[in-house]
Amino acid sequence: MISQPHLIARVRPEFARGERDRCCHFFPLPADGAMPVVLSAYCGFHIHPGEAEPLDAPAGMPCTGCLMAAALSS
Ligand SMILES: [Zn+2]
Repeated sequence: MISQPHLIARVRPEFARGERDRCCHFFPLPADGAMPVVLSAYCGFHIHPGEAEPLDAPAGMPCTGCLMAAALSS
């Protein structure tokens, strides 16, 4: 499992450019709780917090890149 705080989010529909943008990505958060200007997902996907739709739990299609990166880093 991922031990550090993380955020599950996907791009808001109005910002999504394709089906790939609609999958949920996993973003590691800084330990101090500060929200970075740009969130970087485990897969390398970047998103601005204002364009993100935070999710309480994975919904829809998870990003396979994020899943692989999270699995390999644990
Ligand atoms: Zn991802």
